[in-house]
Amino acid sequence: MKEYSDYIVRATAANHQIRAFAATTRDVVETARQRHNTSPVATAALGRLLTGGAMMGSMMKNDKDMLTIQIKCEGPIKGLTVTADMHGNVKGYVENPDVMLPPNSKGKLDVAGALDLGVLSVIKDMGLKEPYVGQTILQTSEIAEDLTYYFATSEQVPSSVGLGVLMEKDNTVKQAGGFIVQVMPFIEETVLAKLEENVKKITSVTAMLDKGYTPEQILEEVLEGLDVEFTDEIPTQFACNCSKERVTKAIISIGKKDIQEMIEDGKDIEVNCHFCNTQYTFTVEELKEIIKRSR
Ligand SMILES: [Zn+2]
Repeated sequence: MKEYSDYIVRATAANHQIRAFAATTRDVVETARQRHNTSPVATAALGRLLTGGAMMGSMMKNDKDMLTIQIKCEGPIKGLTVTADMHGNVKGYVENPDVMLPPNSKGKLDVAGALDLGVLSVIKDMGLKEPYVGQTILQTSEIAEDLTYYFATSEQVPSSVGLGVLMEKDNTVKQAGGFIVQVMPFIEETVLAKLEENVKKITSVTAMLDKGYTPEQILEEVLEGLDVEFTDEIPTQFACNCSKERVTKAIISIGKKDIQEMIEDGKDIEVNCHFCNTQYTFTVEELKEIIKRSR
């Protein structure tokens, strides 16, 4: 048995003409659900984006690179934010965790209805002066297709993305996972045709997850007949790097005047981390110490 349950596998196929990623993220998504107390449709939406984000994070090259995927949308969920690094650490939240919607026409959680129209932004902070920002309009608002469209238009990399979250009857997360398959510019016609044929046959990632497929088995199916080679495996987990000291620094940065007002209010203040919902309490005494460190 592995020490971890969630992981990302990386693979190549057809003699490096294809690169591929697949992940199982049940614990990542269940942790997010518990932290944010998300409704089923919000869990599905956030879970899909966390899964895509974890895999996209693993595509980055440098230790300190940070990937952020942000969706701003008109639907009742209002927005989602996910951040990931190259080591499988991922975190995220939705603007409205309580969104409830009837099932869609296929009887599934209506993620597209929760998001509706919107814009997807991918921000890669690679330690340069300006981060890379790619923005695209949501296509189906089901998230996987929206990431496919982002890869095609912003990165000019033809890709196929599948993401799925499956819920238990008690609304905890039963399975979550997905895949990203990308083709290189020098791909041969016959290889591309075979890949397209395979992808067409895949009706849903959720169905594969329901059968208990591992990430390796998902890729074996997507890349069937294309000589898939697994190159490495990275554990992935919901992880937030917030701490009382980081929140303290954030309070310092708001300036002396505002901190003075909080002190005069005479009440403890509570600061919540958006990403993991941890609550940090600061007493008036602590604020008096903080103001000494502020300008
Ligand atoms: Zn946090």
